[in-house]
Amino acid sequence: GLQTQDLSAWFGDHKVLERVSLSMAPGEVTALIGPSGCGKSTYLRILNRMHEMVKSAQLAGRVLLDGDDIYAPGRRPADVRARVGMVFQRPNPFPAMSIYDNVVSGLKLAGIKAGRARREELVETSLTQAGLWAEVRNRLRSPGGALSGGQQQRLCIARSLAVEPDVLLMDEPCSALDPTSTRRVEETIADLRGRLTIVIVTHNMQQAARVSQNCAFFLATHDTPGRIVEAGPTRQLFEDPRDERTSDYVNGRF
Ligand code: ATP
Ligand code: MG
Repeated sequence: GLQTQDLSAWFGDHKVLERVSLSMAPGEVTALIGPSGCGKSTYLRILNRMHEMVKSAQLAGRVLLDGDDIYAPGRRPADVRARVGMVFQRPNPFPAMSIYDNVVSGLKLAGIKAGRARREELVETSLTQAGLWAEVRNRLRSPGGALSGGQQQRLCIARSLAVEPDVLLMDEPCSALDPTSTRRVEETIADLRGRLTIVIVTHNMQQAARVSQNCAFFLATHDTPGRIVEAGPTRQLFEDPRDERTSDYVNGRF
């Protein structure tokens, strides 16, 4: 699993996260919820060392992947990203590249070498896990950009899964998708549950309730950085929250 301990983050002098401690259990789906600007994406990017790609970014605290600090000296970002995949809000396949090569590109980006038979196997497995295999098996050489938006997002999920990651991070993966495509992605998440640790950021409370077992509610104000107000089983946050602000937020009174 994945765990953060007293994680704080800054962009220059601007502190955006304050002492965020959270455990994301293996085999479970954790939903991160909270208003715009509370630091959810920043937090997610810290979890696979994308945060440090911003020059002004700074961190304090620890991120543990199966107990090991991913920011320990000597750990390379590429090694971390090979174990912690990310799917973004806007599907971003390489549009001119074939569906097949898009999936294989996940391996290349992670620096993983695989022979042809192994590549073919990983392409089929990850497209199957992403719920896309039946739709594309006869057109693997078509460009990724020729797929619908929802299919492109599932292609991006397959690309992340090709490296057989331990963790899959998803930043509002359905907010650019229609309801049917959203369903397909939610089904994919449900199928993946149990196999890896999944962390999903969503503004859709019904979606958080449908797909996650655990939930963390983030909040920032004009003068306080983002922090977790409440975290726990999703059912508890939605049905019996401890904090009134959680109750207000999940019921749309924010
Ligand atoms: P949303 O729900 O709108 O996606 P969020 O919860 O994901 O919001 P973040 O994108 O993490 O919020 O932003 C948290 C804070 O960090 C905001 O104040 C934002 O302006 C700031 N921020 C994010 N990225 C950068 C950056 N690259 N440089 C400077 N400040 C940034
Ligand atoms: Mg965001």
